Amino acid sequence: MIEITAEIRAIIDRAAADLALAEGEYIDPADGLIHCKHYGGNRQTVVPCFGKSGYFMPRCVCPCQAEAERRRKEAEEQRNRMESIKRRRAQGLQDRYLYDYTFANDNGQNPLMKKARAYVDNWKQAYRDNTGLLLFGDVGTGKSFFAGCIANALLDRDIPVLITNFPSILNRLTGMFSEDRVEFIASLGMYDLLILDDLDAIKNPPDLAHARIYDRILERCAPILFAGKNFREENAEATKAAAKGIVSPK
Ligand SMILES: [Zn+2]
Repeated sequence: MIEITAEIRAIIDRAAADLALAEGEYIDPADGLIHCKHYGGNRQTVVPCFGKSGYFMPRCVCPCQAEAERRRKEAEEQRNRMESIKRRRAQGLQDRYLYDYTFANDNGQNPLMKKARAYVDNWKQAYRDNTGLLLFGDVGTGKSFFAGCIANALLDRDIPVLITNFPSILNRLTGMFSEDRVEFIASLGMYDLLILDDLDAIKNPPDLAHARIYDRILERCAPILFAGKNFREENAEATKAAAKGIVSPK
């Protein structure tokens, strides 16, 4: 038995009082209740009074009102999702030209692009296994386009991606107080995929700290060679073999 608190009583009274016919409603003589003109659904129902004899007849939602509400919510969720995607894209693609680096704009000339598509198709596995991609080769060989296509495809799914490079990270860190540095570095962790596009420098790391960072990245990445340059074999062969599986289409 539900206890009728003053609050519930107020709700019942309000529902019972709101019985003026709105546009598109009629009272069906068969049951004496308010119905909707669209499909005849009930907009009023009969509920027994708690603890005493008699009934009250509060308003209710007819099926087409429920459907309209469902569609309204769906449209709102879609709007929120689009807003979120727009926000993530603005955060993740700091150079405007990257917006146009999409699979739709691929001219099909670079056979490596199928690896980009495979990476996106296998994204869940790549994310689970913490597997990134190392794109290396000369400037102008399509690395940025390759990276941009992956980023845009994942951003379209509302997945947080950041394309950046070490110089701009170091630039941001310069002049920051140490607390801000910790916060900035932590903020890089909120991206599911971080694409660093200047790793050509790995061959000659400027110091040991850089060498360590590069080693960490290399261990977790499947290397993809652009424009026929040789890739120096690194250690971590087992990890790389697993990583390669991610970019091989089934
Ligand atoms: Zn209706």
